[in-house]
Amino acid sequence: MTTRDIQSLENIRWHRTEVSRKDRETLHGHRGLAVWFTGLSGSGKSTIANALCAQLHARGISTYLLDGDNLRHGLNSDLGFSMEDREENMRRVSEVTGLMVDAGLVVITSLISPLRQQREQIRTKLNRDEANRFVEVFVDTPLEVCEQRDPKGLYAKARSGEIEDFTGISSPFEPPLHPEVHVDTTVMDVDTCAQHILTKLPV
Ligand code: ADP
Repeated sequence: MTTRDIQSLENIRWHRTEVSRKDRETLHGHRGLAVWFTGLSGSGKSTIANALCAQLHARGISTYLLDGDNLRHGLNSDLGFSMEDREENMRRVSEVTGLMVDAGLVVITSLISPLRQQREQIRTKLNRDEANRFVEVFVDTPLEVCEQRDPKGLYAKARSGEIEDFTGISSPFEPPLHPEVHVDTTVMDVDTCAQHILTKLPV
């Protein structure tokens, strides 16, 4: 950021809005919440996130699903998979998530989110006004199983060197140490995983 950028930021004031988050939550009839999925590619994040979204919607809860792959077609279309770009990808999605939580929605994010420290930063930021706004869901599927499933054919490409910086193969994945929710997709089917997550949400 240049000195000029900083000076212009100093001239921007935060406008208080008449309608508060509490008001919006009262209208929805539930709290705003971030349900942050993390796991390897092919672990089942998008599939379970979709099932969870449908189960919440059927219970009258206002949801929105932010899918990492979908966002790379628009908001994040200028980003690749270097560590720097992955961090920027996460930063932008966490900002959008924060706004949507503030709007009173239950926001489900489906991104690999490989770095523990960055997930912790997002947790701290989203929980800063009120505890339990951020729920980390670890979709725990071993690399071998993800690679066997290979729903998008990406592991084969990563192994042959066609794709660089692939999580679990040539780029790190740091599993959560204390996720709020843990699902093991080797023993639970999609609906059971979604059901289990649902029971843990502080909405
Ligand atoms: P990600 O979003 O983590 O990259 P996807 O949801 O796109 O993963 O793909 C996961 C694949 O694994 C899908 O083809 C899904 O049908 C399959 N799958 C098999 N068993 C499960 C399960 N128990 N939970 C989630 N996905 C599963």
